[in-house]
Amino acid sequence: MRSGNCDNVSMSMTEVRGRLAPSPTGALHLGNARTFLLAWLSIRAQGGAVVLRIEDLDGPRIKAGAEQGAIDDLRWLGLDWDEGPTDANDHGDGAHAPYRQTERIENYQIAIGRLVERGVVYPCICTRSEIESAASAPNAGDHETRYPGTCRGKYKNIDVAEQKSGRPAALRYLVNDGWLTFRDAFRGDCEFSPALECGDFVIEKVERAGPSAGARTPAYQLACVADDAAMNITEITRGDDLLSSTARQLILQNALGLPHPTWTHTPLLIGSDGRRLAKRHGDTTIRRFREAGVGADRLVGWLAAISGLVPAGSRAHARELVAGFSMNRVPRESVVVTAEAILNIFSL
Ligand code: GLU
Repeated sequence: MRSGNCDNVSMSMTEVRGRLAPSPTGALHLGNARTFLLAWLSIRAQGGAVVLRIEDLDGPRIKAGAEQGAIDDLRWLGLDWDEGPTDANDHGDGAHAPYRQTERIENYQIAIGRLVERGVVYPCICTRSEIESAASAPNAGDHETRYPGTCRGKYKNIDVAEQKSGRPAALRYLVNDGWLTFRDAFRGDCEFSPALECGDFVIEKVERAGPSAGARTPAYQLACVADDAAMNITEITRGDDLLSSTARQLILQNALGLPHPTWTHTPLLIGSDGRRLAKRHGDTTIRRFREAGVGADRLVGWLAAISGLVPAGSRAHARELVAGFSMNRVPRESVVVTAEAILNIFSL
């Protein structure tokens, strides 16, 4: 990424619609809760509609009970939604149901078909770990390397690639050289060169071996773009570890003729070692606080305080923060959370 001038590609729409998009790969922690709180406040403060979308495409990483855990945690935090599942057994009955990505495969196949028709994707038989991980959002700490284009222009289509190589073929988007620009509400004008940074990226992964060899799964980048458009999402607030994914999503939106939502990438919570808050910093799961009897108003008050919305030590319910919420009040820098600060939440 580099900074520079750019066009603002965000579009204005009348009805604000945003989404909370947890991946049920583990329990929600303080960092997730803070991002979801800010996303929810931004939508609610504009009178918009909240969609809960479960991003469960990455089968091997999905944890039993994590979806219900996320739903319970969000409810406990006081974050509600207008569309989405009410529990892990429910498909959700909103206008854009279903809201679980594993139940929306057909939509992704339609989008993939369009890209194939347009000749902007190609089969790839390389065995790179990045293909394995393509069903998940590349979060901070996931090392992404640039694809050198080994399979570019080699095979006419998937069938030919698979016959010639004897291996199942994934699909990659053919990225053109050049810089791509978008405006992020926090970072301002952002400029990326996906050709230099990640190269041709996976839009559909394939199982290479094992009992489900040959099984195809849409990649996170593709599924996210297809869903945001199908669900008429107008604004996206998420952690800034996904900033570089936005360039890829913009490319896919352009290729599919889809509108661009607005983007706000919130800085992550980091430990005193400067690394993203994670298990090594202790148990920061919402469940831990919930089960220890910490009131939601204490935890939400703490999250709001580190976000510049209320004075330190305040208690608050999410709904009380809606009036007067402005993303402009939220610090642009990562917030350092020490082990001591986490313990303090219990005694607030
Ligand atoms: N499900 C993704 C994650 O948990 C979020 C994707 C997004 O907001 O675009 O990292």
